[in-house]
Amino acid sequence: MNPHEIDLHKELKKYFGFNQFKGLQEQVVKSIITGNNTFVIMPTGGGKSLCYQLPALVLDGTAIVVSPLIALMKNQVDAIRSLSSETGIAHVLNSSLNKTEVNQVKKDITSGVTKLLYVAPESLTKEEYLQFLNEVKISFVAIDEAHCISEWGHDFRPEYRNLRNIVRQLGDVPVIGLTATATPKVQEDILKNLDMPNANTFKASFNRPNLYYEVRTKTKNIESDIIRFIKQHKGKSGVIYCLSRKKVEEIAQVLQVNGISAVPYHAGLDAKTRAKHQDMFLMEDVEVVVATIAFGMGIDKPDVRFVIHHDIPKSLESYYQETGRAGRDGGEGHCLAYYSYKDIEKLEKFLSGKPVAEQEIGFALLQEVVAYAETSMSRRKFLLHYFGEEFDDVDGEGADMDDNVRNPKSKVEAQDQVVT
Ligand code: ADP
Ligand code: MG
Repeated sequence: MNPHEIDLHKELKKYFGFNQFKGLQEQVVKSIITGNNTFVIMPTGGGKSLCYQLPALVLDGTAIVVSPLIALMKNQVDAIRSLSSETGIAHVLNSSLNKTEVNQVKKDITSGVTKLLYVAPESLTKEEYLQFLNEVKISFVAIDEAHCISEWGHDFRPEYRNLRNIVRQLGDVPVIGLTATATPKVQEDILKNLDMPNANTFKASFNRPNLYYEVRTKTKNIESDIIRFIKQHKGKSGVIYCLSRKKVEEIAQVLQVNGISAVPYHAGLDAKTRAKHQDMFLMEDVEVVVATIAFGMGIDKPDVRFVIHHDIPKSLESYYQETGRAGRDGGEGHCLAYYSYKDIEKLEKFLSGKPVAEQEIGFALLQEVVAYAETSMSRRKFLLHYFGEEFDDVDGEGADMDDNVRNPKSKVEAQDQVVT
């Protein structure tokens, strides 16, 4: 079909049941179906998947979707299959498939049934798969979580570095990069690495006007401070992030002793316990999850009312992602971070064992965290500036939703805050 003649709203309704595109989706879809290299930067939950799924469904051939996590791929494939009567419409190609399954996938692709083929980057390097993909019609290659390409991102994966070479072997197919990482540095890396300087770029705003940002100086009274905070938010759901498993256990216990229903969550717990604690939180059997960063991937609880950072994270990118789990429903989300320079020194110490290049990046990211914690300007403006976005801290949406704006520090006080 001539891409210009496709009625996108009709296709949107037909496949997904939605009446309207969200944000920049329609422009992105148009860019992809007309065969352009395209770069999409949208916050988590912004609707990036549809940006490539809809074009894949309406274009001839099969779209290859590269994604780093097998669990996420499976979810997406199931979701796509539920939209269609044809199970072959979407497939995952990875090392867990047996010979018969691989043959079925190949058959469905060759016959034109398969519109979306999800692959992990390491599977895509397999000669056997490459040869096969070379012989079939590929509509485009979408690279989800494209920040994995960049060492400046929070989830660098070396095998992502190779993708451009592999894509080249597939011939001249359009490439779509998608990410929720908004820092200009990561974006530059992605465009450079995918060798698509002239890609059509679509960047949504990262402003979350319903989130309130606050930083408190970390003192030895932190535990009673947290307890007081939670009691002020009685009956509300919240997450407390700690750096170490030990701290997670400790805080969860302190909360329990003080009559707050809380469960720990970290990678040291067995899978069954983790799943149980996660469910308890989702079902509101407990109010609070105390967790390491292991908690959050794919958690979609809309009414998380607060996210507390007992320990400051290692980058503003992580901070934004973790606080972003609050207020998904649009209601208020209070993001409270405790800060002490001692914690920064701890993080620096972690870094000192790493390769030099990684250290340099790590220190630079930490400096930004320090600057954010110590700033007396609008925190929202600071965060968005970090993401390369201008924010009007007088009239912008959510302008008064942070401690510095609500209670401006006097100059002297602001100076006092700087820990040397
Ligand atoms: P991202 O990958 O950007 O984090 P997803 O693609 O997972 O976001 O989409 C987030 C949610 O938004 C999903 O539940 C999806 O069904 C929903 N969504 C996407 N596009 C639309 C739309 N046009 N209208 C309504 N809901 C949408
Ligand atoms: Mg996504």
